[in-house]
Amino acid sequence: MPPQSKLKVLVDREEISKTVGRLAFEINRDYRGKEPLLIGILKGSFVFMADLIRHLDLPLEIDFIKVSSYGSGDESSGKVRIVQGLKTPIRGRDVLVIEDIVDTGITVSFLLDYLRKKKPATLRLCALTHKPSRCQVPVPIDYLGLTIPDGFVVGYGLDLNERFRHLPEICVLESEK
Ligand code: 5GP
Repeated sequence: MPPQSKLKVLVDREEISKTVGRLAFEINRDYRGKEPLLIGILKGSFVFMADLIRHLDLPLEIDFIKVSSYGSGDESSGKVRIVQGLKTPIRGRDVLVIEDIVDTGITVSFLLDYLRKKKPATLRLCALTHKPSRCQVPVPIDYLGLTIPDGFVVGYGLDLNERFRHLPEICVLESEK
């Protein structure tokens, strides 16, 4: 944790759980009769994805893709690259990308362009959180959990230099005055 910073709960367990339940309801409804492939963006989405899929009553498959856009610390480098690719062919599949947070939109728009070239039947995005104030590349989010204010958040899969992913709440790092 940066010196003189403290963690403040922004989204508690109950709100996370309600949000995940609502998103699962919408996905169950929209993908009825389909066999979607959920693609989690590593590492941050793993906790959200694990909770979400246990509410889904669909013959789904999962895969993961790892991208790097942030170096160490809390500022985006603005350059996205794929660090670990998919294991599953996606041509003709109903693909749903699972993201923890859409901040500037750079990562997810790069990834959606990359996936679109592989010709899935459908391609949608589910994001647990979105910071609209930071948007640089507008991305349509088909399933959106929560809009959150600007500020660096950790917990529920999200890290700062690999720490805090295990926290059950989404917390904001605040500097102590
Ligand atoms: P974007 O490309 O939209 O700016 O950033 C997307 C990625 O940056 C997310 O997948 C996440 O890994 C990271 N990120 C963006 N904002 C935050 C934040 O507030 N906290 C953490 N821990 N990661 C963030």
